[in-house]
Amino acid sequence: MTRNQRRDPRVVIIGAGMSGILMTIKLREAGITDICVLEKGESVGGTWRENRYPGLACDIPAHMYTYAFEPNPEWEHRFARGPEIRRYFEQVADKYDVVRDVRFNEAVERCVYEGGVWHLTTSKGAELEADLVISATGILHHPAYPDIEGLEQFEGECFHTARWPDKLSLKGKRVGIIGTGSTAAQVIPELVKEAGQVVVFQRTPQWIYPAPDREYDASLRAKVRKNPRLARRAYRWYTRAIELFFSRAVIGQRIPHFLMSWACRQHLKRKVKDPELRRRLTPDYTVGCKRVIVSTKFYDAIQAPNCRLVTEGIERVDANGVVTADGQHHGLDLLVLATGFHPFNFMRPMELVGRDGLHINKAWVKRVQAYRSLLIPGFPNFFLMLGPNTPIGNFSVIAMSEVQSHYLLQLIERWRRGEVQEIEATTEATERFNQYLRGGMAHTVWVGGCNSWYLDNEGVPAMWPYTWGQWVKEMSAPQWSDFTQGAGLSREARG
Ligand code: NAP
Repeated sequence: MTRNQRRDPRVVIIGAGMSGILMTIKLREAGITDICVLEKGESVGGTWRENRYPGLACDIPAHMYTYAFEPNPEWEHRFARGPEIRRYFEQVADKYDVVRDVRFNEAVERCVYEGGVWHLTTSKGAELEADLVISATGILHHPAYPDIEGLEQFEGECFHTARWPDKLSLKGKRVGIIGTGSTAAQVIPELVKEAGQVVVFQRTPQWIYPAPDREYDASLRAKVRKNPRLARRAYRWYTRAIELFFSRAVIGQRIPHFLMSWACRQHLKRKVKDPELRRRLTPDYTVGCKRVIVSTKFYDAIQAPNCRLVTEGIERVDANGVVTADGQHHGLDLLVLATGFHPFNFMRPMELVGRDGLHINKAWVKRVQAYRSLLIPGFPNFFLMLGPNTPIGNFSVIAMSEVQSHYLLQLIERWRRGEVQEIEATTEATERFNQYLRGGMAHTVWVGGCNSWYLDNEGVPAMWPYTWGQWVKEMSAPQWSDFTQGAGLSREARG
């Protein structure tokens, strides 16, 4: 079969966020024409469309938080604000005319593998067939609502940070916020600017790394626009710096971890002079065990005259506020839930049914796992972008998606050449891969005595426990011996 005779698969991509946009561009570049992107929302951008809370930003440097093939001279800050990032994804989607393949406001409700083809049913009742399905639904998009007695009785406004209402006025209000993770650390400094009073309910303190932000003014942006190599250089510089520092610190490398711990401790000491408040803000677990928060504003905000830190546990919520374990009633007009996400849902609640009626809930009943984060045995020709164990400590998910897209295109290429009908990793290879991951966890800081969204139902971190470089190397080419015979690979093709 010559290059021009290759098969053109019918591909459905679920989601038009960062990974969905990327895959549409990359599939088209590879010559695939039959692409349909099903997007539940009304525009592209995924998490950057859904999250609209005040203070929304990305704590990965902007020049690194870009597609490698689309540097952006227009970044206005070292740590880009949410609207800037949303604009960037919209512009990339426009430039590549991604939208012509997107069906908006149409979620996938069912996806069933039958007769060697995926059959999809959407929220609009449409039925589609696909040879290949790419799930690009992201990781952190199912809000986790806390199970607190009486929460539904609260009579003021109460919402999750990922469901921030448009045109909400905080002026003069008594605002409570539950949670002190990365999201809360961005919201709280904005709340104290506008609200009358802010009450922060902290269950567990967090380590905070003080990476300074900076504005990129018009003249600097013009310089980068004129010389795009500068943006590329910044991309490489930040990638290297984060990989050598953050990403190595969290997998147990002593020097970067020592430096990161020292910087977080010094930050707390320097910013919080009151010993009692400092004690309440000091975590009792190793730095990095929970995702390190990057902020230079959080400690100032907590010490603002209109802000109060509450570390007593929450007992219940009533119509007018929150009651803590010491019996104190905290009267509130508004309650913000910065309580995080369910990171193990992935494409669910969509009904995903693989070969021989295997339901995804059954396949994942013991553990949510995949081969190389991308493939689930029993679900041929179904691929998960940013699947289980993709996250690499404080690294850019865009870079991870790009590496996965390159790997995926190599799998798809074999399907196109007719060497394979079903792309599926074996159960043994998947187990072996997950054992390999588990083997690396003991040295990481994620098992350093804390509870976090990184941990699965068995308390094992769903992360990549080795270096970024090793991930890139291992993902550079598929190991075909890890794929099923049922994939129909010819001997020659298996190599
Ligand atoms: P999170 O890190 O999971 O934090 C949730 C917070 O809510 C924690 O402080 C948690 O306390 C608290 N909480 C949950 N249930 C509670 C309850 N019933 N009672 C009291 N407190 C409760 O969630 P997040 O802050 O939304 O961040 C999630 C992830 O999103 C981050 O780790 C990061 O990967 C990503 N993110 C990234 C950026 C960025 O700039 N790149 C920004 C925001 C978010 P405990 O600690 O005690 O569990």
